[in-house]
Amino acid sequence: MKLGNQIHDINCPHCGATTRVAFDTSGGEESFIDDCVVCCNAINLRVDIDEQHQQMRLFVDAGDEQYY
Ligand SMILES: [Zn+2]
Repeated sequence: MKLGNQIHDINCPHCGATTRVAFDTSGGEESFIDDCVVCCNAINLRVDIDEQHQQMRLFVDAGDEQYY
């Protein structure tokens, strides 16, 4: 795994559309918010870096708890 700019396709937790996110893993673990291009809802993204296994995990969840 190389740290740096990553591009991933994720599924929007609100509408299910596939949306592409770009982020930088060189700063380690981080959370950020992106807006779905289809439904314009905020998507919470969290990046976990597993240095031991040289893997990156991306967690996606709905930014607005009250959506449910
Ligand atoms: Zn959406």
